[in-house]
Amino acid sequence: MKINTAKFLISNTDIEKCPKDYFPEFAFIGRSNVGKSSLINMLCGVKNLAKASSTPGRTRLINHFVINSNTFFVDLPGYGYAKASHTLIEQFQKLTLDYLLKRKNLACLFALIDGRLPLQPIDDDFFTWCAKKKIPFAIVLTKCDKLTKNELNKNIRAIENALYVKWQELPPIFITSATNKIGKDDLLEYIGSIK
Ligand code: GDP
Repeated sequence: MKINTAKFLISNTDIEKCPKDYFPEFAFIGRSNVGKSSLINMLCGVKNLAKASSTPGRTRLINHFVINSNTFFVDLPGYGYAKASHTLIEQFQKLTLDYLLKRKNLACLFALIDGRLPLQPIDDDFFTWCAKKKIPFAIVLTKCDKLTKNELNKNIRAIENALYVKWQELPPIFITSATNKIGKDDLLEYIGSIK
């Protein structure tokens, strides 16, 4: 898939107010600072489409973008700041949960994790939750430019091994860098293939 046009449509605090589900939708989620805005901008080829996470107000909203007049991209609120005693579900804002459980046109959720880190328990729990709720998702490793090829391969293997503890078959895993545009073609091809 090639992106010709990408436009911000609307921000919402209420799932009922999201645009009607007339286009297939691809959503992006991850812990704050994982590189979500940068990845969306990189995929769309538009510098400031998804505002940096530091923009006040934007981070707790569901942001819809129209791609090529026939697809939605959705920037979801981040997760991961709750206290250790909270369960994953409590950590999620109701808004995000509502969205993930109710949005019928969600073709794939891209769950972003930092490619430099081992699999974090909160991400691991989140993937398990997605599987349980039958939410179609793929894992996206971000900031992969910051590792050497060897380091990257080592971490990918470690992440896969950690996932195999629970999973028989792994979800798709994409290697990306917004800085170097690594993974752009692969992700867009994947999006085109399930649209
Ligand atoms: P968000 O909070 O998940 O939307 O994260 P941002 O996209 O705002 O990125 C957080 C920080 O990571 C910023 O300082 C970015 O410049 C940096 N960053 C994002 N993507 C990459 C990447 O692919 N490579 C490198 N080296 N830095 C990145």
